[in-house]
Amino acid sequence: MGRRRRKVVRIPKKHLPKFFSCPTCGKETVRVNIFRDEDRAVVSCGSCGAREEFQIKIAQGAVDVYCMFTDKVYRNSSKVLTS
Ligand SMILES: [Zn+2]
Repeated sequence: MGRRRRKVVRIPKKHLPKFFSCPTCGKETVRVNIFRDEDRAVVSCGSCGAREEFQIKIAQGAVDVYCMFTDKVYRNSSKVLTS
């Protein structure tokens, strides 16, 4: 009685979420707009109105921009806490 191996269905395309969760208000309302021709990206939250602009490199995508955004927010908030 050979047990059949379950076929593992792999999904090669990980589709990116359209919205990211906001480090400021905690809601999933952060959108990343990338302007490739200007090498810049705008991150904005539709809920609390947090907004940041970043210079980006060609290799950087929405996730990278979102990381920079959270990084900046957290750095700012820790600065407030320590001072
Ligand atoms: Zn927000």
